[in-house]
Amino acid sequence: MNLEDYIASIPDYPEEGVTFRDISPLMADGKAYRKAVNEIVDYADKKQIDMVVGPEARGFIVGCPVAYEIGVGFAPVRKPGKLPRKTIEVTYDKEYGKDTLTLHEDAIQPGQRVLICDDLLATGGTVKATIDLVEKLGGIVVGCAFLIELLDLHGRDKINGYEIRTLLDY
Ligand code: 5GP
Repeated sequence: MNLEDYIASIPDYPEEGVTFRDISPLMADGKAYRKAVNEIVDYADKKQIDMVVGPEARGFIVGCPVAYEIGVGFAPVRKPGKLPRKTIEVTYDKEYGKDTLTLHEDAIQPGQRVLICDDLLATGGTVKATIDLVEKLGGIVVGCAFLIELLDLHGRDKINGYEIRTLLDY
């Protein structure tokens, strides 16, 4: 089975000139979804992960089954105003303007080994902000795993020095 067959490419979405890579066909197929999750679980093996962290919303789709399979917890990173208890936050630059992401302040304990999961690495802004949140709490980011990497956007350059695993490149 080729996971690439389960990614839909949508031209001019969400705006003209952008091709959106849609993971919903992959999620809709039990075998493809399981294969993708298992590849990330295999990558995480021997890393002694304590927690998985994923940014909303598709980071949950990838990160939660990975955490479940490894047998560790999952902490959601969310937009401001969504998490009900005390949070820390990081603001980062986007192509147009800024964005803020938040994490519960007790989500990670100092010294915990963290795997970050998301569906797609584009410019790297989201994963960099997620790394900053984890490190603010004293967590150690031991890997970042994605289903897809958009090579043209050089997101890797923003997280130099961190281990990255991606299943598909575009
Ligand atoms: P970055 O911060 O690396 O520029 O963008 C990555 C974030 O935007 C991820 O959380 C991802 O869900 C979302 N994203 C950006 N472009 C796409 C796309 O083409 N397909 C999907 N599935 N997500 C995207």
